[in-house]
This record gives sequence, structure tokens and C-alpha cells, in this order.
Amino acid sequence: MSTMESVKRYAVVTESYFDGDQHHTGGPFTIVIEHGKITATVVGDSSQDLCKQNIPVQKAAFIMPGLVEAHSHLFLDGGLLEFNARNDYLNASGEEMLTVARNNIAANHAAGVTLIVDAGDRYGVNHDIRHESRSVTVRSAGWALRRPGRYGGFMAREVGSRDEIASAIHAIGETADDLKVILTGIIDFKAGLVKGEPQFDVEELSFIVSQARELGLRTFVHCSGVAGLDVAIAAGVDSIEHGFFMTGDHLKSMADQGIAWVPTVSPVNFQLQRPELAGWDEQTVANLRRIVGSHLRHIAMAADLGVPLVAGSDAGSHGVRHGEALIDELDFFSAAGLPMDEVLRSVTSRPRMRWGVGAALLAAGQTADFIALKGSPFENPRFLRSITAHFQHDTN
Ligand SMILES: [Zn+2]
Repeated sequence: MSTMESVKRYAVVTESYFDGDQHHTGGPFTIVIEHGKITATVVGDSSQDLCKQNIPVQKAAFIMPGLVEAHSHLFLDGGLLEFNARNDYLNASGEEMLTVARNNIAANHAAGVTLIVDAGDRYGVNHDIRHESRSVTVRSAGWALRRPGRYGGFMAREVGSRDEIASAIHAIGETADDLKVILTGIIDFKAGLVKGEPQFDVEELSFIVSQARELGLRTFVHCSGVAGLDVAIAAGVDSIEHGFFMTGDHLKSMADQGIAWVPTVSPVNFQLQRPELAGWDEQTVANLRRIVGSHLRHIAMAADLGVPLVAGSDAGSHGVRHGEALIDELDFFSAAGLPMDEVLRSVTSRPRMRWGVGAALLAAGQTADFIALKGSPFENPRFLRSITAHFQHDTN
């Protein structure tokens, strides 16, 4: 892996590329970068000219914008599989957790990720790592919101009355980039459903969304199950995270309202792949298979309806490893039938534009934030797992 960060002026000659929106073939193409900005993208190989001008040129088979991980818990190690060890870890020191987060940043960077949204942690590791990470930009939600005694203890603070909700949002908003809300519990795999009523009703969640908007925060909401999806959509949240037990009607409303969906297939699929770890019985494995199958069908439906699909893995969850799990999500999108250009939009320009950060398009005038792959994922999706170089603007 190499980086050209310290060179003021350089060029990359590539066979083909994805600019964040469109696939460009019929190359080679020459991309010129000056002081961290892309200044030209031209058809043809200009290396000879550039070499005469002493401008260094790097060759690549395929380039595309740096990847975006839309749902991550940076303080958690997804590769830590033993349940007692996972529980013990929640009592680890801040320094220990920060070390885990640093390793997770490194794993993301190696996988080609240059922007991560952390979806909540009560220990503040997400804010700390946001502050120190240079290779990867981190958006941090800080604390999420939840109801007293309900699911989300490791990432959320409890709120009851409206006053409490309003003051919590103001407190969180002082340091957070986005507002995470825990609307439902997690899936009960044994029962094959989400138990319990949503933590907030439509009025309460609408209030949360409006308070957050006043502070310029988008709301992304942990939500699975029909009852929760009804509430999240009626309240007009910005993004539904997980969204298991999705229906066609929900997706139609989401398309109409422009509500994004981050389906996070990985955590449930891991339980299906390794049922012996949790000791799932045959009936539960059948539930898991049904839930994952239905999820992929709804991802395909979402793409057809025009729901803004965004790739996020829920890395840090049991068995969900930072970096590689995001590429797994892209494979799930492909398995659902999405064409590669749509898969790549979900992990590059779409999340960046929705979150109002620089689009990072591979085009003249844009800040350089792109990666090289060993080959084109349009020829073979496996190339998404072989990153050969990063080209990022110098952040110093
Ligand atoms: Zn999560």
C-alpha cells in the first residue's frame, strides 16, 4: 500500500474508473492531482508528457472514491467471538478501548474506507478516535437516545419526559455529528421476531427528529420490526438502520420521503453462518435463514423503488469485523441483484451527499480522496478486497 499524500503534484494513469456516480471505460485515463485537488481527468495515457515535466505518475488498474462505512461501532472488536470475553470487555479501561478503536480504524483503512459513521458508544471512544484519526474521517454520534431500561445500554443514554429528551438532544448535539436513536430492540432469533413495543411513539419520535433538525443533526434510527418501521417512517427520520422485517409498503413510503436504508445484513448473517457459537437450534437457524433471505429480497425491492440504499455493516457486532464486513455488505447487495454501479454509489457518493460532506467525486475540482484496486470490480467483485493504494489530500 502506498500513499502520495506528501507529493504536491502527481498523476495516476488508470485503465478504468468509477467516479462515485458513473463507470468510465474505454481508457486509459490520466488523473492529475495538485495540492490535494483533482485538477484534470483526461482520456489517454499522458505519462510521457508528465514525466518530462517531472510530475510523478502512478499506474492503476482501477480507481474509485474512498469507501464509506455508514454503520460502525469503533470501540467494539467484531472479531471477539467469545460471549464472556465480549461482556468483560465492556469493563475495560478507556485506554484499552482506544487501542481497539485504533486497530479498527487501521482495518477500515486497509479495506479502502476513508469515512466512517460511528453509530453510538456510551464510553466516548467514538469522540476520542474522531479527534485523533487522520487516515480515516470519523463522524461520531456520541451517545444515542433510548428509553429507560430498554435495549441499547452500551451506546445510549436514557430519556423519559419531553424536557429530558430536549435537553439530552441539546447536550449530545454539542459534540455529535449526527443523532442516533434506539427505536426498537434487537431481533429475538429464537422467536424469529422483534419483541416489545417501539421505545418511542410517532409523536415522540417526530419531536426528536424536529429537535435534531433545529440543531442541524440528521437522525439515524436503530429499528427492526413492522411496528418500529411504522413509527420511524411516520416520524420522517433521515435513515433507518437494520430495518429487518421490512415490507413493500414501508419501502414505498421510504422512497416517497427519501428515507435512507442501511440494511446491515452482516450481524444476522454471521449468526446464520456460525450458529454453534450461540448454540442456535435448528428452528432458530431456519428463522435466521428466512430473515436473511427476506432481507435480500427487500434490498432488491428497495433498489427498484428508488429507496436510497446505503452500505453499512454494524462492524463491532458479534462476528462483524471492521473493514472486511463492509465489503461483505457490498457482496450482499450484489447477491440481491443490484448492478455494480448501484452497489458502488451506496458506498461512495450517496452517503457523502446525504450527510452534506464533500462528495469526493473523482472529477476535476474535487478534493482527492480515492483508492486504487488490483482490478475492476465490474469484471470481478473480488477486486473490492484488493486495495493497492490510497490517494488522499494532505490533511496536515
Ligand atoms: Zn449498530
